[in-house]
Parts: sequence; structure tokens; C-alpha cells
Amino acid sequence: MRVIEPLYAEILRRNQGEGEFHQAVREVLETLDPVLRQRPEFVDARIIERLCEPERQLIFRVPWADDSGDVHVNRGFRVEFSSVLGPYKGGLRFHPSVNLGIVKFLGFEQIFKNALTGMPIGGGKGGSDFDPKRRSDAEIMRFCQSFMTELHRHLGEYTDVPAGDIGVGGREIGYLFGQYRRITNRHESGVLTGKGVNWGGSQARTEATGYGCVLFTAEMLRSRGESLDGQRVAVSGSGNVAIYAIEKAQQLGATVVTCSDSDGYIVDEKGVDLALLKEIKEVGRGRISEYAERRGENVKFVEGAGVWNVPCDVALPCATQNELHEEDARTLVRGGVKAVAEGANMPTTPEAVRVFQEAGVAFAPGKAANAGGVATSALEMQQNASRDSWTFAHTEERLAEIMRHIHDSCYTTAERYGSPGNYVVGANIAGFELVADAMLAQGLI
Ligand code: NDP
Repeated sequence: MRVIEPLYAEILRRNQGEGEFHQAVREVLETLDPVLRQRPEFVDARIIERLCEPERQLIFRVPWADDSGDVHVNRGFRVEFSSVLGPYKGGLRFHPSVNLGIVKFLGFEQIFKNALTGMPIGGGKGGSDFDPKRRSDAEIMRFCQSFMTELHRHLGEYTDVPAGDIGVGGREIGYLFGQYRRITNRHESGVLTGKGVNWGGSQARTEATGYGCVLFTAEMLRSRGESLDGQRVAVSGSGNVAIYAIEKAQQLGATVVTCSDSDGYIVDEKGVDLALLKEIKEVGRGRISEYAERRGENVKFVEGAGVWNVPCDVALPCATQNELHEEDARTLVRGGVKAVAEGANMPTTPEAVRVFQEAGVAFAPGKAANAGGVATSALEMQQNASRDSWTFAHTEERLAEIMRHIHDSCYTTAERYGSPGNYVVGANIAGFELVADAMLAQGLI
């Protein structure tokens, strides 16, 4: 930590009030000591200082009118962190909690995650403090159009390629793409990913993050001589990532007994009825409490709490950052959890990660476990560039290969740097080396 402590102090000083960004940087820096000792050229070239300073940060006004004609003003963000491996790539988040620190934490993570996929994509992230909940389709459309009216000038298939994240799904990507096309007079498919499959989207993109997270979990269990078949699984959230994590876990023979939203969680001992969950969440845009009402007596809904006191073999946090705390981790360990994989970005607090690692639980950080989404976005860009579209089966097979590759590279890197079985160390060092080597090669820019 000789080099790292003064660096971290400087990052705190230069980025005040950005708690989530500090947390994400600290988590990476804490693991880099061994690589910096072996590769002093990274220190001499000030790679870390350069990586922690985004190449560009955009903050802009987003005015829009609601259905009653009342005017609202939101703030839009796009942080273009690193383009050393490819165009900036990373999602847009619409949630009232969004601020610069959150966008920077997500963008910083994205650099290493995208490197781990082995695809030619740089790191970026964006969004707005707009709250899409309980807004009509027309209001969502007007907001997206206003947001894109500013953002479009910074995008391009070789420049910056956003996708979805919390609060931004297929509907929002459609409105954003429509406005981009109208303003630029270009049908530039490769400028956004997560598009509808009949207008440039990729099969399996919707499923990719959740599927990838479960495939990564299966690889971790396999390396310990186990499988997902017959395991009891807890998933937090019930959005895009959670729903398709549940689907893949069920396909691999697991029973998912709980999931949640920001109101509370349900417990369904027979296994979550995915068709009902999709109908409530994807079609009706309803609340998780409806699931208990419609599924009947044997399902309970617990208001105002998270899923982590439901005993399970495998825990998949798929909702949001800092949603699994130290006490939750202790409860999960007492309940016999064997593996935890982050479908969301940074859902596990550093103290909770330590509890899992000390207890010998296989723990996969989000930058490895949820990289399947952005990897499939890169596959969507490949299809757009070649004006091709692949089958679901082919795309899913590519995703599975990529997740195996990410798993193996984290696993072997952790071993190589003296922390066998530590996927946090493996993911951070493997991602960092790829980015740092490219930065050295491209000179001081
Ligand atoms: P969605 O908006 O589809 O779903 C988010 C889910 O998390 C909802 O169930 C939501 O409940 C819940 N949630 C959000 N904020 C909170 C909160 N503060 N407290 C409790 N629950 C909350 O988002 P995604 O599924 O796309 O994203 C989930 C996570 O996965 C995020 O961390 C995102 O960054 C990450 N991720 C997403 C990728 C993707 O491809 N979509 C790729 C890689 C990572 P409610 O509806 O009540 O708000």
C-alpha cells in the first residue's frame, strides 16, 4: 500500500462528496499492490492517477413537461471515463438517487469490466436524477427526447455507445434511439445497445446480464466440484437483471425462493413463478406485493426489508449498490451460503465482502459476474457493424464462452498474484493489466 495511500488521499481531495466513487476506487486500489510491485512502469507512467480522472465529464440540463403541462428540470450526466480499448461503453441510469459520484463509480467499474470481456470497448456511464416511476409513456418519451437532444452531440458508434441500466429498459432505449435518428438524420444502429430485435437489437441482450451472472456462478461452483442443480437461491430485485438471473438459475435446476423490489420482498418456497413475475413487472410495471396477492396463501410479502434473512445456498444481489451489508452477510453465512455473485454493481459493502471471504464463500464481484450484459452489447455492436443478426442460440453460446473466459481469467490471475480463489483480486488485476498495457502503448494522452 506504499504507493496507494497517498494516491487515494489525493482522489478524496479532488472528488469531494462522491462517496460511491471513493468506495469503488478504494476497492480496486486495495488489490493492486502486487501488480504495481511487479510492474513499476505503471507507477512511473502514473496510470492510476490517469485512470481515476475521467477523459471527459458532461453535466447538462434536461427540461421537460409532464402530462398536465407542468415544467420539470432534471440533470443529465455522461462520464466518458476511458476510450483506450474502444468507444466509451456503459449504461444510462434514470433514478432519483443519480448524482455525479454515482455515475463516476459506475463508469470507473465499467472500465475494468469491459476490459475483462476481452471485447474492444472502453468505459463510460450516464443517466439522470429523473424518476420514471408512475410516469406515463408520453412523459417518459418527452423526457427521453429532451435528454437525447443534448446527449446526441457526444455520441457515435466510434465515440460513445450507451445502453440501459436501472430505470432504462427497452422502452426508453426506443425513445432515445428515435430522437437520435431524428436529430442526426442517420439510422446509426451502433450508437445505442439494448435496441428492439427488429430494429438492430441483439437476441439475448435482454437476458444477458442475469444469464451471465448465473453462468459465472455455475463456473465458480464447478471449480469447487459442485453445480447449481438442486441449490436454493435468493435473488434481490425484480428488474431486468433479477428476472433473467431467476430464469437461468431455474433452467440450471435451482429453486429461487425469494426476490424483491424497493417496497419489500416475497418468499415463495415452491419456487418463484417466473411467468407471473414477468407479467407483473415487465408488462404491468407493478409492485412485488402484487405477486403475493396473486400467487396465494403460501407466499408471504414482507414490507420494508431486503431478502438476506431468507436462508439459501446461493445469493445473487441484483438490485442496486450497497444493498447487502455486513450483518446481512453474517446472516447468510450462518444460513450456509456457499456462493455469492453480484448481478448489480457494487451491491455488497466492503465489510460484507470481507465476511464472505473470511468464511470461505465463493464471492464474485459485479465487474466480473455482471459483465455478460455489456459483452452482449458488444456482440450487438458487432452485428450492427456487419449488418447481420444472429440467432438466440448462437448469441447465448457466445455469451457462455465469454463468461467462462472471464471466470478463468479472474481465477488464474488471482492464483498468479498469490490470492487463489479470490475473484475480487483476480478481476481487478486482470482488468487493470489490460487497460494499463494499452495506456502504456498509446503514450501519454
Ligand atoms: P431495473 O431498473 O430493471 O431493476 C432494478 C431493480 O432493483 C428493481 O426491482 C428495483 O425496485 C430495485 N431497486 C432499485 N433501486 C433500489 C433501491 N434503492 N432499494 C431497493 N431496491 C432497489 O435495473 P437493472 O435490473 O437493469 O439493474 C440492476 C442492477 O444491475 C444495477 O446495479 C445495475 O447497475 C446493474 N447492471 C445492470 C445491467 C443491465 O444490463 N441492465 C448490466 C450490468 C449491471 P423498484 O422498482 O422498487 O425501484
